[in-house]
Amino acid sequence: MDLESNRDKQLVIPLFETVVFPKTGIKFRMEKAIGKGINEKAGTNPVTAIALVVRENSSTDVLEEASFYKVGALVRLESIQPADNGYLLNVRSLERVAVENIEIREDGVYADYSLVPDIEDVDENSRREMIGFLKNTIKEIGANFRGSELFLKPLEGMDSVDEIIGFALPYITVPLSDKQELLEMSSLRERSLKFIDMLLKQKENVNLQIEMAKKFSEQTNKSYRESLLRQQLKAIQEELNEADGASSKAAGYEEKIEGSDMPEEVKKTAREEFNKLKNMGENNPENHIIRNYLDLLIALPWKTQVKKEIDIEQARRILDEQHHGLKKVKERIIQHLAVMKLKQDKQGSILLFVGPPGTGKTSLGKSIAEALDRKYIRASLGGVRDEAEIRGHRRTYIGALPGRIIQGIKKAGEKNPIFVLDEIDKLSHSYAGDPASALLEVLDPEQNHSFSDHYLEVPYDLSDVLFIATANSLSTVPAPLLDRTEVIHISSYTNREKFAIGRDHLIPQVLEEHGLDGTRLEIDESALRETIEKYTREAGVRGLKQKLSHMARFASEKIVSGGIELPYRVEVERLEEILGIPIVRQEEARKENIPGVVTGLAWTPVGGDILFVEATFMGGNGTLTLTGQLGDVMKESAKISLSLIRSRLAHAINNFDFVKNDIHIHVPSGATPKDGPSAGLALFTALASLMLGKKVDAKLAMTGEITLRGSVLPVGGIKEKLLAAHRAGIKRIVLPKENEKDLIDVPDDVKNELTIRFVETIEEALKEALNVDLPMPEFVLSTSDQGRPSLV
Ligand code: ADP
Repeated sequence: MDLESNRDKQLVIPLFETVVFPKTGIKFRMEKAIGKGINEKAGTNPVTAIALVVRENSSTDVLEEASFYKVGALVRLESIQPADNGYLLNVRSLERVAVENIEIREDGVYADYSLVPDIEDVDENSRREMIGFLKNTIKEIGANFRGSELFLKPLEGMDSVDEIIGFALPYITVPLSDKQELLEMSSLRERSLKFIDMLLKQKENVNLQIEMAKKFSEQTNKSYRESLLRQQLKAIQEELNEADGASSKAAGYEEKIEGSDMPEEVKKTAREEFNKLKNMGENNPENHIIRNYLDLLIALPWKTQVKKEIDIEQARRILDEQHHGLKKVKERIIQHLAVMKLKQDKQGSILLFVGPPGTGKTSLGKSIAEALDRKYIRASLGGVRDEAEIRGHRRTYIGALPGRIIQGIKKAGEKNPIFVLDEIDKLSHSYAGDPASALLEVLDPEQNHSFSDHYLEVPYDLSDVLFIATANSLSTVPAPLLDRTEVIHISSYTNREKFAIGRDHLIPQVLEEHGLDGTRLEIDESALRETIEKYTREAGVRGLKQKLSHMARFASEKIVSGGIELPYRVEVERLEEILGIPIVRQEEARKENIPGVVTGLAWTPVGGDILFVEATFMGGNGTLTLTGQLGDVMKESAKISLSLIRSRLAHAINNFDFVKNDIHIHVPSGATPKDGPSAGLALFTALASLMLGKKVDAKLAMTGEITLRGSVLPVGGIKEKLLAAHRAGIKRIVLPKENEKDLIDVPDDVKNELTIRFVETIEEALKEALNVDLPMPEFVLSTSDQGRPSLV
């Protein structure tokens, strides 16, 4: 369809974002869908159309009559060309027109129009002035934008207000409706004034924006500069303060160093370090290393302020008050203190308490400290593998610390504390040096007046410290250490002793630890006794204390929950409810033994114990099998026993074929390694019992070393072994004759309940155990073995 056939109606170009003013040339984009129709119509002929603004809030998809404003501009379409997803239209506008009868057709929008001429209500002079004013204002606005001169050039040649409006309007940020309103004003005067108003507002706006932008950038610049300056200032202040602070703090060090008791050569070192510190900035990483070091030097006690007289009577009283029994131990301690008192000048020395766990070794140390009115420090050395734990790390290492000894002394704050070194038998060697040799330097009176800690660097005098070392067993204490200590053995407690300790010491301790007292919790004596007998099986009283604590916790809960009568009483009947089922132990003496089974006695670092030796035989070829993790010495004892049986009992057991039978000896509790010669007698007796087919009384136990000549030699640990036997309910004991003297250490209540037989030969032992009479070989009666088993 061409324009001619639509003469009655004019094609409408919908405008969405712009208003076309009469007498202006303008280019604008048109959407593809709408632009396409216009493009088709344009063909080669020039097209006249009405540029008509679509109201802002109407949809672009569905145009209707109401979508359009009713005043537009008649334009001549100069060109139309496809451009990025639409069309670019170049129009020349002619006149303002009023539109009516808008028709939305398939191929486009059409409308009737009539021209709306201007009302020329401005005289020529005013018009000129206005034009001049408009041009200037636009230029002024443009001056704010770089490169605007070129852009504003066409303005020079413009001679009508509409032309200027058309040129500038697209750049003025007012709503489309305002622009349309401007177009609709036919009074030239009004239109011009409104446009001037718009321009001025725009100018104001632009100025405001420029001002804001300037302010903003000024502000950001200013705050950036400020923060930069502030940072610099801070750095400077820090420098100044630090110099200030460092020197005042350093001055503090100086006073402290000079005022301390450090020996002169230590002071010299301290001063050197202090000088280093003074000349160092706060940020120097070495700074705090030196400070820590100086802090240590200052904190360490360098002088024994008051040498307290040792009050032996007071010491005796405190030891007696705090520990039940241990008569011999206390005596030895008092003797040691007496020697220390006489020695006067040096207040230190070394005691070594050896005994099973929970027998009061550590707590004796504490009592001694109290008795001497000296500080108490404790360090556990169990499992220490690294020499540095004792002697410290050199300061060059990151995170270096002094060793435990110096740390302990620092903590004590006194130069002569009582220093308990726990578990020195559990030090271990490793690639990281030998802690035992470092410990030797600590303990050796010849060396310990100038103990060197790697961290401390300067020698420290430990000779005023009373060291008390503890160990469960002497066998793993390095010999040089042992040489320098005064060994005091502490042995297991009997049930009677445990009862007294429990009643007089542990119960009060436990009550206090749990915030209770006798008015709230009462533990019956019979319950205490039952707890000792049925719920603990130990050499010391640590387990007992745990059980008592258990009772206290149980009672606390009951008391807090309320509804019970106070005091809460722990009676025998309640024990199962509180502590659970009593521990049933295999090592209790058995009711009856079968032939081949004998009860032996063993000594372990945690106290004595009973053990069972079991022997059996079966068809085979004369092999001897030993199981139960036996050590070499014990294996040898088994072989000696078998040889003895074959040589000395041959006539009594002539029906046993040693060539066609295998013998198997087992010592249960297989996970514990066992060694030592003292099971020899039990091994021998077990074999004899097996061969003779005679039972050994289950309530009889024995210990003793045997020789190939059939002598029974003395063994160690008699007290522990007898206590263990007593605990396990054994009634009769067979011991080597030479051990008779050891009974003096065994408490009477235990001795009284045991029948003890002493033997010198295996024949005597078999008489006791199996009630068999064997003829005594001549040479046994005439000589007595003194040495270890030998084939002489
Ligand atoms: P160890 O150091 O020998 O392993 P502890 O010194 O830690 O044992 O003793 C365990 C607990 O038993 C401590 O509460 C201690 O007071 C107490 N105790 C041990 N023996 C006695 C005793 N003879 N008299 C009083 N209390 C004791």
